[in-house]
Amino acid sequence: MVKVPKFIKKIFYNQVWDIPNSENKIYLTFDDGPTPLITEWVLEILEKENIKATFFCIGNNIEKYPEIFKKIIEAGHSIGNHTFNHLKGWKVTSKKYLKNVDLCEAEICKLNTEHSKLFRPPYGKITPIQSKLIRMKGFKIIMWDILSKDYDQAISFEKCLENTKRTASGSILVFHDSLKAQKNLEYTLPKAIKYLKEKGFVFDAIN
Ligand SMILES: [Zn+2]
Repeated sequence: MVKVPKFIKKIFYNQVWDIPNSENKIYLTFDDGPTPLITEWVLEILEKENIKATFFCIGNNIEKYPEIFKKIIEAGHSIGNHTFNHLKGWKVTSKKYLKNVDLCEAEICKLNTEHSKLFRPPYGKITPIQSKLIRMKGFKIIMWDILSKDYDQAISFEKCLENTKRTASGSILVFHDSLKAQKNLEYTLPKAIKYLKEKGFVFDAIN
């Protein structure tokens, strides 16, 4: 499912799937970093293209690579919480899940005290109770409209790029600054940006 159908957005209306606006804005997001070299490569591309994006970081990776995490912040991008251990909400108790979200948040706060409270559930798998509890902590839960599927080793580079072309105004696009996605990402990201700019879209970070 590359583009999320309207009925899913309606059922899970408490979660953010896209950000309607009148300025043709779209939102690039990068999950699962910080990852050495890959995150830095993404930062270079974004700087060159003058784009602000949103990074949903894994707490454990922030702990391992604080210097890369700092680079994301210093470049002016938004930061979101992606749990400490990349947990699948459907597989763990709400108590354990919430504790993992807190752990990630503590890691983010060590280096970035002022930030919007954004959360993205790993794999998009979160129970309604977990979703509610996290929103009660003041988080906005950011899902997506367009999945590049860059993590999918079975798809071709061309297919990955094709997926991003279904973007519409307000779309939230998902990429991954991870080892698994590296090959597809390196091919797709620069070409997707070029295509989307030509289509007249404007890039913004989520706040
Ligand atoms: Zn993830």
